[in-house]
Amino acid sequence: MDVHTKEILILLQSGTQSLQQAEVQRRTCRSMSAGSSSVQGGHRSDASNRTSAKQAVMIENHRTFTIAIPESLSWTVYHPRVSEEQELLLHWNPHQSIKDAVESIGIPHTEIQRYFCSSEQVPESYIVLPGDELSIEPVDALPYSSSRVFIADTHLGKLATYLRLLGFPTLYQRDWSPGELLGCAHHSGAVVLTRSRELLKRRQLEQGMLIRSTQVDDQLVEVFIRFALQDHLQLLSLCPHCNAGLIGVEKDDIIDQLEPNTRQWYQRFFRCSQCGQIYWYGSHYEQLTTMIGTITDRISNL
Ligand SMILES: [Zn+2]
Repeated sequence: MDVHTKEILILLQSGTQSLQQAEVQRRTCRSMSAGSSSVQGGHRSDASNRTSAKQAVMIENHRTFTIAIPESLSWTVYHPRVSEEQELLLHWNPHQSIKDAVESIGIPHTEIQRYFCSSEQVPESYIVLPGDELSIEPVDALPYSSSRVFIADTHLGKLATYLRLLGFPTLYQRDWSPGELLGCAHHSGAVVLTRSRELLKRRQLEQGMLIRSTQVDDQLVEVFIRFALQDHLQLLSLCPHCNAGLIGVEKDDIIDQLEPNTRQWYQRFFRCSQCGQIYWYGSHYEQLTTMIGTITDRISNL
């Protein structure tokens, strides 16, 4: 990591520390960059510079620690240069856990499988010490579970609709507050899908996933990979509007609810057990199967 990056990160992470203290850190980094050469005007001896550099390292180690960021999580970190610098130098704060330290740079605990200090696994409650060399392991793909229920945050209505169309139960209400959504997730045991890092940092949240993309087909690929959904699709089993189950219905029983064209061209129908909406294998179904084919191809080519 170059000195300029260290300066920025220390200032960003200084938190409640005074600006004067941050300035000391900045000078320390500059001193380190000068090293033992005669860059500082040539007025100081090599021995003096070496002592100064040694003191700088000692000071820095007493106030900082590092976190190595896996490449797959670099997009979640607030600092834009992390894609170039995979190890961040952060300012040390007393009593800060490794979970809080990692979340302070933008990575929610839901995205982390394991925490390490100097390659030794530590719990998320581990209190960070000055000079620690921390690292994290991202959550891997999880095995499929037929009992898994998702809950989509208020900005992911389209994703909720598609997950339901594909047969994966997904709770969603456009007007939920964050508290209501988290309460529902807690009582239902559902996995929260969201693009909000702040939502996933809530302590009461047990299961969640940070969605990266803004496009629904890309979002589906992300969710399919994390939860191994691709071999478990059940099209037209759930109502895309209300998440209730669909049941087959005789055409004659609903024929008065159908448009003339639908009445003429389609024979198999389903009705939502809750809201009563009627569905059939029409053009939307064909679009859905095309989309599934694309998603499956993309996953198999990864
Ligand atoms: Zn319905």
